[in-house]
Amino acid sequence: MTMTAVYPGTFDPITMGHVDIARRAAQIFEHVIVAVYDTPAKTLVFDTAERVAMAEKALAGVGNIEVRAFGGLLVEFARQAGARVIVRGLRAVSDYEIETQMALMNRTLAPDVEEVFLVASLQYSFLSASLIKEVIKLGGTVEGLVPDFVADALRQKLAKQEETAPVPRWLTS
Ligand code: ADP
Repeated sequence: MTMTAVYPGTFDPITMGHVDIARRAAQIFEHVIVAVYDTPAKTLVFDTAERVAMAEKALAGVGNIEVRAFGGLLVEFARQAGARVIVRGLRAVSDYEIETQMALMNRTLAPDVEEVFLVASLQYSFLSASLIKEVIKLGGTVEGLVPDFVADALRQKLAKQEETAPVPRWLTS
């Protein structure tokens, strides 16, 4: 039986922290599905197709990684995909709290699906997609923290958004 793991997230957009976790998971499991959640309870910059396409491009070199969109319950998606393992990345203590809460709920819903945590690599342990978006919005550089094509796409997208809705003054002063 192929050992398949699901690595779920919003990936809005994919960062080098995500890439690192996905690659490391792919060294442990035979098949890794990077699962892009289509309707998270947060405001998104990229739509589902864009987030999937960027994740595919960022992970193109890794043969046993597949990127798929999903909706609904994660444990149901994992079961349907034939995965008995969910992989999540852990950065700070704050991640630990929320991740254990979600893991325990997932285990209640599906005791046959196990959750595995990979500790963030030191150089990406401060990195989050929302921080990247904030830095780009304010004109900073994010070299080495996201793939270059992701930084370009973010700049374009955020510039377009700014045309319709300028950054509030309180964000920049
Ligand atoms: P979510 O909205 O579900 O937290 P994210 O896309 O933000 O989705 O993150 C997906 C997973 O990747 C989560 O387990 C998160 O903790 C992990 N992750 C995010 N950024 C990093 C990082 N820099 N290093 C390691 N893991 C990370």
